Amino acid sequence: MYTLGIDIGGTKIAGAVCDENDKVLSQWRVPTPSEPDEINDCILEIYNEALKLHSDIPTMGISAAGNVKADRRTMSFSANIAKWIDYPLADRIEELTDHKCKVVVENDANCAGWGEYILGAGRGSRNMVMLTVGTGLGGAIIINGELYRGSFGMAAELGHLPMVSDGDFCGCGLRGCAERYTSGNALEHFARSGIRRMPQKGKRLLELCGGDVDTLEGKMVSQAAQEGDELALYAFGKIGEWLGRTMAAIAAVIDPDLFVIGGGVISVGDILLEPARYNYTRFLQAAAYREHAKILPATAGGDAGMIGAADLAMREA
Ligand SMILES: [Zn+2]
Repeated sequence: MYTLGIDIGGTKIAGAVCDENDKVLSQWRVPTPSEPDEINDCILEIYNEALKLHSDIPTMGISAAGNVKADRRTMSFSANIAKWIDYPLADRIEELTDHKCKVVVENDANCAGWGEYILGAGRGSRNMVMLTVGTGLGGAIIINGELYRGSFGMAAELGHLPMVSDGDFCGCGLRGCAERYTSGNALEHFARSGIRRMPQKGKRLLELCGGDVDTLEGKMVSQAAQEGDELALYAFGKIGEWLGRTMAAIAAVIDPDLFVIGGGVISVGDILLEPARYNYTRFLQAAAYREHAKILPATAGGDAGMIGAADLAMREA
């Protein structure tokens, strides 16, 4: 049986036909439009292309950024697509396929976490938590080998754990959320504030951003850190510290055997993982008297979310 996995990203919509062993047979990529109707048309186009190659595709899994209701069909809210408020995404796509394809919608971080669990660093774990350190901080929780969605489909919004009382304002409207302190955005923030306070130490970073601190990007901080630049390493030390604190807070609730760290920022490897591991132990309750979860980088690659979405839909069918 074939399943179509769709990943609606900020810049592109990716689609892949997967077989029952999660093997990708064919794939497509198109730029993401901004209007829901246009997004639906893009998905239909990929579905029709997929049908030309594989005559029967009875299920489709869609990975989407935002909150998905417990019915796994409706987008309750998305920071990226303003009109996705109580939006019946699965209904719309099923109508477009003349109800020949059953659609399951899942939060993008959940799909990435599930992909990592079935294909990547999570294999063999029982209770796993994935943290995706991208622009923001995404989360996924697997308990006893199953994706944990919570009672209302809202579980694992780990980037919005309230870590700091009256802290920095978050895009979600609250203050002090974990992703304000550990994410790609936070990395840029710590590097910029470091340059402003210690310009003599910011020479390499200023060089990389052409002298304009406001244009400094996370990948420049990663590059400088890999060259050994002190200020870039300081910025990674800060987001690593907060990642460790966040994992310790999660461990107090979930007690997982494994944390998998994904997202663009993890390309620096131990530069992020070392301070994260150190501070995880530092803030873990009864640290000396318990077994510790492993903390590993993600290995399933950029298509993990799309394949994860297909696999979750296949299990539903
Ligand atoms: Zn928040």
